[in-house]
Amino acid sequence: MKGYMGRVLRVDLTTGDIRHEDISDEVYESFLSGVGLGAYYLFNHIPAGADPLGPENILGIVSGVLTNTGSLVTGRWMAVCKSPLTGGWGDANCGGTLAPAIKQCGVDAIFFSGISEKPVYLYMDSEGAELRDAAHVWGKDAVEAEELLEEECKTNKKPKVAVIGQAGENKSLISGIVNDAGRISARSGVGAVMGSKNLKAIVLQGSGRTEIADGEGMKAYSKEVGTKIKNANLPKFFKGWLFPYMGTLMSKQKKVSAMDGMLAAMINKKFGTCVVNTLGMTNGDCPVKNWGGSVVDFKKKKYKKLNPDNVLARETKKYSCSSCVIGCGGICDISDVRGGKYKHTHKPEYETCSSFGCLSLNDDLDAIFYINEMLNRAGMDTISAGNTVAFAIECFENGILTEADTGGIRLKWGDADAIIALLEKMINREGIGDFLADGVKVASERIGKNAGQFAVHVGGQEPGMHDPKMDPLLGIHFSDPTPGRHTIGGAVYYNAMHLWKEVSWAPAVTKYPKSEEYIPSDKEALKSIATTAYKLLTDGSGGCFFAMILGVDHWNLFKMLNLATGWNLSADDYMKIGKRIQTVRQLFNMKHGVESRDYIPRGRVIGDPPLSGGALKGISLDIEEMVRLTWKNFGWDEKTGVPKDEVIRELNLNELVK
Ligand code: SF4
Repeated sequence: MKGYMGRVLRVDLTTGDIRHEDISDEVYESFLSGVGLGAYYLFNHIPAGADPLGPENILGIVSGVLTNTGSLVTGRWMAVCKSPLTGGWGDANCGGTLAPAIKQCGVDAIFFSGISEKPVYLYMDSEGAELRDAAHVWGKDAVEAEELLEEECKTNKKPKVAVIGQAGENKSLISGIVNDAGRISARSGVGAVMGSKNLKAIVLQGSGRTEIADGEGMKAYSKEVGTKIKNANLPKFFKGWLFPYMGTLMSKQKKVSAMDGMLAAMINKKFGTCVVNTLGMTNGDCPVKNWGGSVVDFKKKKYKKLNPDNVLARETKKYSCSSCVIGCGGICDISDVRGGKYKHTHKPEYETCSSFGCLSLNDDLDAIFYINEMLNRAGMDTISAGNTVAFAIECFENGILTEADTGGIRLKWGDADAIIALLEKMINREGIGDFLADGVKVASERIGKNAGQFAVHVGGQEPGMHDPKMDPLLGIHFSDPTPGRHTIGGAVYYNAMHLWKEVSWAPAVTKYPKSEEYIPSDKEALKSIATTAYKLLTDGSGGCFFAMILGVDHWNLFKMLNLATGWNLSADDYMKIGKRIQTVRQLFNMKHGVESRDYIPRGRVIGDPPLSGGALKGISLDIEEMVRLTWKNFGWDEKTGVPKDEVIRELNLNELVK
C-alpha cells in the first residue's frame, strides 16, 4: 500500500453514522484513486434510478494517488456524484490546497450519503471525524463561511475548508463546491448535491504522511521536472497583444504539427489561461453571441479590452495550487471595481472571461472581474451561468422573454449591468432567476415558447468555451459521460502530450488535419481514446490538466505512478486502467438510464447551421461518424455506446463492478 491510504471515510448524513471502510489493493490497482476510485465506488453503491438530490445519491470528495507524495503538480481533488444536471455520471475537478489535506486525514476519499435534518459540516483530523452544527454559516457566501470555519477550527495550523455558497444551498443545478476563497469544483451540479444533503462544508485538519515506494527516485524526478519548468520562461517582449496575431497565424495554417508542451507551461506561468481571451477570437476557439456569432460580432475594438495584459494589470500576486510549479493563478485587486464591494478575486480564468465576454458580447473587463468574485462566492459555475445568461439575452431579443418575465431587467447583448442583475436573481432563485439557476436545458423547458432553439447544451450541461469546429477532437470529448466537458482533450493537447513515445497503440503525430479537412478515421478515434485514458489517469492521480499537456517528456505520469506505488507497470498497462475508468463512467450512465446518443453535441456547437463569419465560417462536423468510430475503438456498441461484453471481460469489469 504505497501512494494511497487504503481506506475511505463513509458518512451517512441521515443517521449520523461515520465509519472508515478499507478498500482492497485490487481496487487501487484497477482504478487508481481519485476519479477512478470514485467511479468504482459510486457505480457499486448508488442504486439505479436514485434521485440525484435524494438521500441515495453519494457525494464523493476524492484525492489522487500522487497527491501528498512529493510529486509535482499533483494537488488537485475532485467531487464525484450522480449529476442532477445531466442525470448521469458527474464529476468536477478543483485546485487549491484541499487535496493533500484529505490524505493527511488518513483517507483517500470521503463519501457522503443520506440527508442531514439540519445544516452540518464535517470536521475531520488525523484522530477521527464528527458532524458539527452549521446553522451559523448557512446562508453565508463561500468566502465568508470558509473564513469563519477556518477561525473556528484552527489549531496550530490553518484547516482546509471546502464549502458551498448560496447557489449550492439553493440547489442550483449549476452550482459547485469552493475552497481557497474561490477555487471551485464547478461542473456537473456537484454543489447542488452537497446542498441537498444539508452539508455546508468539510473542514480538514490532518497531518499524516503518505508512504511511497521510492522516495529518493521521486525526489530526483521532481527536481528534474521542477528545474525544467522553472527555467522555461517566455522572453520579456512576449506580451498579451501578440496573441490575436498568433491566433490568426494558427487559423491560416493548413495543418497543425506536434508541438512541445513546455510552450503551454511557459504561457500559463506568465499569463494563466486568459491568453485565449484574444487568441481564441482570431482562430475561432471562442464561442461568440451564444455560439451563433463570430469575430464579426465582437470585433477587435471590443475583444482587445479583454487582452491578457489588462487582466495581469490587476494581478497583485501569483497563486499556485499545492505542489504546483507552474502557478497559472493569481490574486487580483478589484477594490476600485463597481463601488469596491469586493477587495480581491482569483484571476478570472479564460472560461469565465469568455462566458461573460464574447459569449454575451460584453467588453467590460471590470464587470467580468466582479462577476468572477460574485459567482465564486455564491459557488456558481461561471461556464454554465455564462451560457445561461447568453441564452436569456437571445430569448429576450426574440421576444420569448420580456421585462415582465425578468422583473424589469432589459436584457441586451453586452449590457454588463443587466447581466449582473440577472445573475443576482439566479443566485437567489428570485423570479426568472429560479428557472435560470438550473441551466439552459431546464430553463428552456420551463420557459417554453420554443426557447429550446437558443438553449446550447450537451446532454443537459452547458459546453466549455472552446469551439469543436476549430478542434474536432474536442467535439468527440464533448460526448464524454460528463458531456460538454472541455478539460478532457483535443487535438492541440494530444499533439503536445507525445503519448506515442510511451503507449504502443497511440498514433504518432507529425501533422494534424484541421477541421475543414478533418476526416473521421480509426486513427483519429484512437487519439481521442488515448487522450481520454491519460486524462483519467491524471484525474486518478490528482494531476493538473496543465501539467498533463506538458507531455510525457516533461511530466511523465507513468513514471511518477511507478515511483509512488512500486507497481512497475508499463504505459500500456496504465492506459488500460484509464480505459477501465472511462468504461465504468459509461456503465454508470447506462445503469442510470442515460441514452449515450443524447450526449452527442448537436446544433450550433458542431456547425448546424454553420457560422457565417470568422475563422470557422462554413464549417460543420460529421460528429455522428466521429463518435461512432470512437465508441467502436473503445469496444462499445457503435450505435448505442453500450460497452460490449468482450471489453467488459477484457477490462475485468465483470469481476470488479456489479
Ligand atoms: S497549473 Fe494552475 S490550475 Fe494547475 S495546479 Fe498549477 S496553479 Fe493549479
